[in-house]
Order: sequence, then structure tokens, then C-alpha cells
Amino acid sequence: MKVHHLNCGTMRLPGAPLVCHVLAIETGRGLVLVDSGFGTRDIAEPARRIGGVRHLVRPALDPHETALHQIGQRGFRAADVTHIVVTHFDLDHIGGLADFPDAQVHVTAEEARGALSPATRLERSRYRRAQLSHRPKLVRHEPTGERWRGFAAAEQLTGIDDGIVLVPMPGHTRGHAAVAVDAGDHWVLHCGDAFHHPGTLGGARRVPAALRIQERLVAHDIKALRANQARLAELREGVEEHLAVVCAHDPALFEAARARSRGVSM
Ligand SMILES: [Zn+2]
Repeated sequence: MKVHHLNCGTMRLPGAPLVCHVLAIETGRGLVLVDSGFGTRDIAEPARRIGGVRHLVRPALDPHETALHQIGQRGFRAADVTHIVVTHFDLDHIGGLADFPDAQVHVTAEEARGALSPATRLERSRYRRAQLSHRPKLVRHEPTGERWRGFAAAEQLTGIDDGIVLVPMPGHTRGHAAVAVDAGDHWVLHCGDAFHHPGTLGGARRVPAALRIQERLVAHDIKALRANQARLAELREGVEEHLAVVCAHDPALFEAARARSRGVSM
């Protein structure tokens, strides 16, 4: 499948410029998005939809960065987006959903529970009801299928396409999941916020302090988060050639993935 890598929301956390890495996948059943970044309604009403956290993460709120605008540049219309798979319901991942009201929105049942019936103070503060007020067509998944490269109970989303797999990866939120996508000669594993910086998974780059603090502060279950990061680090060591492990917010991983999809070596 052809996979487009879009940045749908530059953010400017102090000391750490970030992107919102969104996948747009051309399938036989229309265009499928993984996450949605910030959308046109967030730009129109930032106080109501994003709230006070915008003063910390300072999103660019640039209309040219919305998924709606960027798929338009590639010749697609909003109605072409038939499915959106979301890693979790944090505000920087679901702001664009309202731009595609007809799309089915796939999420783990656990994440939908956390967002719609928040049980902890963190859950009550992180999820923004206003971003779901258009009543998206939710499809809740409880993956119980085979393991996917060491992660328990993944679910192939065959209702969309055989090459899209929902891989539960809880910790950042209670129902957080990664999404694996068959991009032809390799797989892309979009890990959402299961990690924020490649340095977390080993390697030379240092993780900026702002990101380390933020990651801990907003973790629903830090032990689960760390356990999944350890598994991701092993995965990255082993099969990197055939697997691009990306997260939602790291600009370097985003640029490398985009270059690879265009056949440019970096
Ligand atoms: Zn995020």
C-alpha cells in the first residue's frame, strides 16, 4: 500500500520541537488515516477544543498542516477518507477527526472507555470532550488475535485491509495502541506516544529533559510504558531493514520515514 507521511501539527514544547506524524494510506477501500493531528476546528476554537495545555505545547495551528488540507493537495477529498485508526484519544491525535465525519474511527475498547468514562484525575484532564462532540462513528476493538512481533494479542483490521494491524501498547494511556502498516517492501510501525524520542529506545541521541518529564507526567501506567519501550528497543535492533519504527512526535523519525516512502536515502 502507498503510505503518505504527513505532519498534522507542529508543536513547540520548550527545548523540543515536535511534529504530529499522521499516516495516510491508499487502500482498495479508500484512504485510511492513522491518527489525525490537529484539525480545522481546533484552529477555529483553540480555547474550547485544546484548552490551557496549548500554552505549554504551543501548537502552530497552521491550516496548511491539517490532514484535510494535505490530502487535498494530493488529489483526495474528505469523503475519500473511509477509516481512521487512532493510537489514542489525546487532543493532539484526534483534533482532525471532525474534518472527516463520515469515516469510521477505530480504537481499542479500553481507550474509548478511558476517554468517555474517565476514571482518574489524569484521564479527566487529558481528554477533550469538545473534540468528540461531532459524535464520530467509533468502532471499538478488543484485540485477542495472534502476537505481532512479540506484542500480545494484535488484531488485523481485515474490515479495512489485511495490511493494517492494531497492536495494543498500553502505558501512555490505558488503551493506547500502535498501528502496523504494510508499506510494500517494509512495514511501518506507528507507535503513537508509546515513546517520544528514539533515544528512549537506545542509540546516541539524548532525550531532551522536557520530553522525559512530559512522558512521565502524562503516563497512565509508567511500568507498562517502560515494558513496551524495552520490547520496542529489541524490535528496532533486530529487523530495522524491514520495519520502520516511528512515533507520533519525533521530527527526525518523521523525516526519515517520509524520505524512505519517496525512495530517498538519508
Ligand atoms: Zn501525543
